[in-house]
Amino acid sequence: MARVAVVTGGTRGIGEAISVALKKAGYKVAANYAGNDAAAQAFAQKYGIPVYKFDVSDFKQCQDAIQKIAQELGPVDIVVNNAGITRDGTLHKMTPEMWGQVVATNLGSCFNMCRCVIDGMRERSFGRIVNIGSINGQAGQYGQVNYAAAKSGIHGFTKALAQEGAAKNVTVNAIAPGYIDTDMVRAVPPQVLEKIVAKIPVGRLGRAEEIARGVLFLVADDAGFITGSTLSINGGQHMY
Ligand code: NDP
Repeated sequence: MARVAVVTGGTRGIGEAISVALKKAGYKVAANYAGNDAAAQAFAQKYGIPVYKFDVSDFKQCQDAIQKIAQELGPVDIVVNNAGITRDGTLHKMTPEMWGQVVATNLGSCFNMCRCVIDGMRERSFGRIVNIGSINGQAGQYGQVNYAAAKSGIHGFTKALAQEGAAKNVTVNAIAPGYIDTDMVRAVPPQVLEKIVAKIPVGRLGRAEEIARGVLFLVADDAGFITGSTLSINGGQHMY
């Protein structure tokens, strides 16, 4: 029986590449998104992957969605916590809303999703959780106190839950992408982006598929000895 994988923010950018790679590898995939219905419908039609609209920062919505996915596809074996947002600004201009939205969407979502699947994973003695952190959670970034704090929190969350899951064959790992060519990075002003690319030893932005490759490695059935680790995929920009 094919394993069931849920990818949050799985219809665009890095998440799209993860969903597609998992499907190609034989997994049954559920791709979540927040509000961009047009992108989600185009994605569903193109790849034949079912899409589920819910807000990962809302616990109840996650609970209902996991129940629905389990009914439609089967019990969830794999969760990729990929959904994320930025609301950039220096701290002296940051509003409590900018702080709250970013922490709830990037970090609160990991609690929400993991809490809803952990009992089943422990009962079945199998689970693979991959949390998408960021180079900016490892190194910090000007104008991103909220985002860097949330992503840094993901790395602590990963190590703690990895310890709790280890005896039950529930592995928990993180990937810290560098700058990847997606809508999120295209929103950065070109002159800033140019300076960022100049600092990447590989000499270019990463591709979403290059993050998906790491996810496939970590969720494999025979990856049971890899847990609590962070895989940095950043073109050599930050060696941590
Ligand atoms: P995109 O902005 O391209 O896509 C974000 C996805 O997340 C969309 O599918 C979006 O849904 C979904 N999403 C956003 N908020 C919510 C929410 N509250 N509930 C459910 N889904 C939500 O992002 P990227 O592909 O660039 O980034 C993916 C992840 O990788 C993020 O966690 C990001 O922080 C991280 N990352 C990205 C880097 C990069 O260079 N791009 C670098 C380092 C980390 P919808 O389509 O409905 O809006």
